[in-house]
Amino acid sequence: MLEISGVSAGYGRLTALKSVDLQVRKGEIVFVVGPNGAGKSTLLKTISGLMAPSSGSIAFNGEKISGLAPEKLCRKGLALVPEGRSIFRTLTVQENLLLGSMIRKDKAEAAADLDSVLDIFPILKSRYRGVAGHLSGGEQQQLAIARAILQRPALLMIDEPSLGLAPLVIDQVYESLRQLNNRGLTLLVVEQSTARILDLASRIYVLRNGHVALEGTAGDLADGHALEEAYFGYGERQAAGE
Ligand code: ATP
Repeated sequence: MLEISGVSAGYGRLTALKSVDLQVRKGEIVFVVGPNGAGKSTLLKTISGLMAPSSGSIAFNGEKISGLAPEKLCRKGLALVPEGRSIFRTLTVQENLLLGSMIRKDKAEAAADLDSVLDIFPILKSRYRGVAGHLSGGEQQQLAIARAILQRPALLMIDEPSLGLAPLVIDQVYESLRQLNNRGLTLLVVEQSTARILDLASRIYVLRNGHVALEGTAGDLADGHALEEAYFGYGERQAAGE
């Protein structure tokens, strides 16, 4: 579904992504993990058209999409929940959700999708007419994801869904990701922490200093050893004599 080949991107002289290859297949839930500054957000910004790659190509369902504007990509079925959630805090939960489905022409189906989203995120049903800014961090994260789903994306990308959330709340957010994936949604999720991802991931990429240090299925990486080594860059450090 998503094919990233040799993509580099950066900010002025800083190269934040160095020849990254990454694939997401239909129905998968793929995690990209890596330490602070590894390039994870840059990767999502580049896929979603907020940044242009300096080299390499990105294809979505066989069509080259690198260089297209974010709104075009949105219409092609790519949705991004950015880091920090970006909900409209002064609007109600209902109004935030309606904004999610605004670009859709299939109004009847959009209404049905709203019902199913409220099933997956029951907390949003109970806060439906409340102001979004009064929701807790975890509830705001769920609202941001729910709003993105109402765009009916083929691929949903989420930047650090667990950021700033308490462990129990992360469990709830991850459970909703599982349910969405079980219903057929393809997901690309970026996380700083490797905790919890093995249970949920189809495949995992470790990004370090802008390059892919490791890629494998959750089964391949189940014992966590290789994952830790790539995450902390032990091999690279040894080679550099650290
Ligand atoms: P984090 O977990 O902290 O969000 P990340 O893996 O998402 O980290 P990025 O935000 O993609 O990493 O940053 C990759 C590199 O690009 C870092 O060195 C960072 O300092 C730099 N960077 C990110 N955003 C900008 C920007 N707007 N201008 C200049 N440099 C930036």
